[in-house]
Amino acid sequence: DKMLSKIVSNITPSATCELEGTVADLRHKGVDIIGMNAGEPDFQTPENIQRACEAAMAEGKTKYVNVPGIIEVREAIAKKLRRDNGVHYEPDQICVSTGAKQALNNAVLAVTNPGDEVIIPIPGWVSYVEIVKLVGGVPVCVECRPDYQLDLEKIEKAITPRTAAILINTPNNPTGAVYSRKSLEKLAELAAEHDFYIISDEVYEKLIYGDTKHECVASFSETAYEHTILINGMSKAYCMTGWRIGYTAAPKEIAQGINAIQGHTTSNSTTFVQWAAVEALENNDETIKAMVKEFSKRKDYAYGRLVRMEGIKCNNVDGAFYLLPDISYYFGKRYGEQQIRDSFDFCNYILNEAHVAIVPGAAFYAPNTVRIAYTNSMDKIVEGMNRIETALRKLK
Ligand code: PLP
Repeated sequence: DKMLSKIVSNITPSATCELEGTVADLRHKGVDIIGMNAGEPDFQTPENIQRACEAAMAEGKTKYVNVPGIIEVREAIAKKLRRDNGVHYEPDQICVSTGAKQALNNAVLAVTNPGDEVIIPIPGWVSYVEIVKLVGGVPVCVECRPDYQLDLEKIEKAITPRTAAILINTPNNPTGAVYSRKSLEKLAELAAEHDFYIISDEVYEKLIYGDTKHECVASFSETAYEHTILINGMSKAYCMTGWRIGYTAAPKEIAQGINAIQGHTTSNSTTFVQWAAVEALENNDETIKAMVKEFSKRKDYAYGRLVRMEGIKCNNVDGAFYLLPDISYYFGKRYGEQQIRDSFDFCNYILNEAHVAIVPGAAFYAPNTVRIAYTNSMDKIVEGMNRIETALRKLK
């Protein structure tokens, strides 16, 4: 009578991945679905990055390399962290992984003992809670403020002697919030005072609109640096989601632990992709700028449409490529025989009636909301918003 382990039977499958399956089925049946669910840029990986990968392969860069990555890519990352974030890491403090997702798993495993607590601000990304459970840790969810900024009072109350870390994400998926310097400074003080780590997921760093600035908590002070594991990656800024490359930058001892973990799991991330990342880090500021300009236009449009729809409340946030409107006004309303009870019903209704794919906020521990990604062309977003508005008018 062998069964799944306790740890694995405790894991919840990813709701975003399941939705992707439903959408694929509908498209296969010929239904014209507008996708506003994807957590990835709709743009193609820039040409120069593709060419750098081809060149690396042609040059035979296809073998095992150092577990934490080739020195060239770790130097390029160190340079980027100095230039963009004002923070100094040596290449031996950096470990390149198979996506920021692996980097996060490495970081959590490196600092969490079985039974230790990890604080997670919610709404938060689907995988954080599960990553903590995977290492035998205990996720402690703390609700953000209504503007989606960190609630430092609630976070302070959640700290116990078993707190190993807090997992933060700025700019944030799913809220789009960009954490203020003041709140991150206060968080760094708490981390030093109670001696826990800040695992700082900065994968949306480049996706910021208006005058807001990304704040890198590790750069604030020596103590903030000593208490932070910085996570970043190539997926979002360089449209490299399928390439699977991300990294950690950490105090030296932690970095050595991370290398040891990775040495027994995946070893080095794909060698020729690391060479492509060197090219991206050095030569793609302009493609990022162009993409951000386009996302900014789409966000303004989508936000403007949403807040004019009956009953919908939405924060106008400055980062990532998501909006997280509150749709609870529609709970209890009906279409024919069926009733909308929660964010899952709401998204099913929008998918089946409007043929627009969006993600239930419940997946992000925000049950009164839905996540709308503006990772589709302006034309499709206009059409998507028209369809959602028409469908909502039919609810009684
Ligand atoms: N962190 C957050 C907040 C994300 O939204 C994602 C991707 O959706 C990741 C990490 C993982 O990124 P990667 O593709 O580098 O594994």
